[in-house]
Amino acid sequence: MRKIKVLDQNTINKIAAGEVVDRPSSVVKELLENAIDAQATSITIEIKEGGISFIRITDNGQGIPKEDIRSAFLRHSTSKIDNADDLLTISSLGFRGEALSSIAAVSQVEMISKQPEDLTGARYIIEGGNEISFNEIGAPSGTSFIIRNLFYNVPARKKFLKSPQTEAGYIYTIIEKIALSNPNISIRFINNNTNRLFTSGNGDLKNIIYGIFGKDAAYQLYEINTKKDNVSISGYIGKPEFSRGNRDHETFFINGRYIKSTLISKSVEDAYRPYVMNHKYPFTVLNITMDGSLVDVNVHPSKMEIRIKNQEDFYDFLFRAVKEALQEKENIPQIREFHKPVINISTSNSEPFSFEKKDIEPFETKRIELIKETPSYNEFPVQQIEMFQDHFLDSKSVSRHRIIGEIFDTYWLVEFDEKLFIIDQHAAHEKVLYERVMKSLTDRTHTSQRLVIPMIVSLTMTEEDLLLKVMSQFQKIGYEIENFGGNEYVIRAIPDNLFSINTKELFLSILDNLAEDFKKNQVVENPFVLEKIASLSCKAAVKGNMKLTPMEVDRLINELLTLDNPYHCPHGRPTIISMSHQELSKKFKRIL
Ligand code: ADP
Ligand code: MG
Repeated sequence: MRKIKVLDQNTINKIAAGEVVDRPSSVVKELLENAIDAQATSITIEIKEGGISFIRITDNGQGIPKEDIRSAFLRHSTSKIDNADDLLTISSLGFRGEALSSIAAVSQVEMISKQPEDLTGARYIIEGGNEISFNEIGAPSGTSFIIRNLFYNVPARKKFLKSPQTEAGYIYTIIEKIALSNPNISIRFINNNTNRLFTSGNGDLKNIIYGIFGKDAAYQLYEINTKKDNVSISGYIGKPEFSRGNRDHETFFINGRYIKSTLISKSVEDAYRPYVMNHKYPFTVLNITMDGSLVDVNVHPSKMEIRIKNQEDFYDFLFRAVKEALQEKENIPQIREFHKPVINISTSNSEPFSFEKKDIEPFETKRIELIKETPSYNEFPVQQIEMFQDHFLDSKSVSRHRIIGEIFDTYWLVEFDEKLFIIDQHAAHEKVLYERVMKSLTDRTHTSQRLVIPMIVSLTMTEEDLLLKVMSQFQKIGYEIENFGGNEYVIRAIPDNLFSINTKELFLSILDNLAEDFKKNQVVENPFVLEKIASLSCKAAVKGNMKLTPMEVDRLINELLTLDNPYHCPHGRPTIISMSHQELSKKFKRIL
């Protein structure tokens, strides 16, 4: 055994840094929270290369006293609590005193800070936890951090970073949340020299929602503003039809802190249940405030998971608040004009709105499943069902099919050759469409159908990034999508197979679905995305064309029999099952 020794502070910090700083977005999150805790009213975040090579965060807050600067970079140094008792009533975002020491341990940090009451500020440079310089300089009031070359001295960690674009995406997400929870703070975000977000800080949450989620979201909101005992809930929830395919648009804050909570999600989703389909999740931006002693934020180092005391009461209160807002929908007046748009996702295209340059950054000139839906095919006891494998789908047999009719809006019954065949029309239809789309993709014989009225969709920045990544796949399959200014995209044409389907819903569900895969780190590679687009399109197509006439069923069967594997839908469910005359007779005890 090697001799036991006490690790030096630098090594301890480097190890501890792993918990607080795992990627550029966590640096941004910590520094933003510090700026907010310092009472800043205007904050600028600038990144380059996804924050890997460069992050700058400039605020106009209280600044750090010169004599405290060195100690602010020590582990467990904080000005926010004195002892463990304070943890119960903490109102600041930070309190562990770990961020600066951790960030400095694994990057090259330059910090300039000046308190409003001081005449001069200080510039402090610390790299890999080692002080490089400390000197007095002239500076505007507030604090500016520049973080260069994250993990330059921890190559093992650097290897785990994703592409700059993906890292930038994580940063957007954090900034969006911070902007939504702080409508009174003007936030600007610059990525690779491009302005991506700018909020005016005029306190209007709806305007921030407009800027981040687009017009569609902003015009489909119900307001919630309610209070009971010492708990208050305010913010906006989306109309049920604006629900999405994953939880990315559920945003909750407790006492200004962005959090994730199964309890809160469940309570809100339960209230939406009567209004939305399974696997649809509501759009929400809700601020919850409650006595600090009722919530435990100290559960997880990233401080996102929380624990609420009096869970049942809280669940009930939130559930009712959401339910009432949804029930009262008819009474809610139209959303007023957005006279003072605040956010500008800057592009070179024509902007639908402009923003006021009211708060200028201090440091600059003084200075953004259908599968489950189909009733189980196991309606008969299993031994009485035989998976179909006969010559039912033989071109010679087709003329001897006797189509009996449709049951439960779902199944078609066909008699053939001493057997009753049951066709799941959704599964069969889906299979046929899927094969058609995939075939046209492989043969490059697809055609587009232009929409008479082009559809406009507003995307979040993350969705936009995703779309740009998979745009060529959408185009390959026959979609024509173009930027329409800002974060809006116009869909001008869709694959002709999919004509008459709700284009917008389909398009968004494809994006949501891809987003889930990206999150799980699945590859963006072409055949996969293509297949996904094809399969989801077909699913929607089938939903859109529920009623078939006997003639259409005949055609469907005819098409099925041209396929290599007609017996299973793209998701692996059977398309056809059968029950023999003999099985039926047994069932009625005609034979033994
Ligand atoms: P914590 O936020 O948990 O206290 P940090 O390591 O993030 O710990 O910061 C250490 C201390 O440095 C803070 O408590 C605060 O006093 C000071 N500080 C950090 N960033 C800023 C800032 N932008 N403006 C003013 N003070 C700051
Ligand atoms: Mg902090």
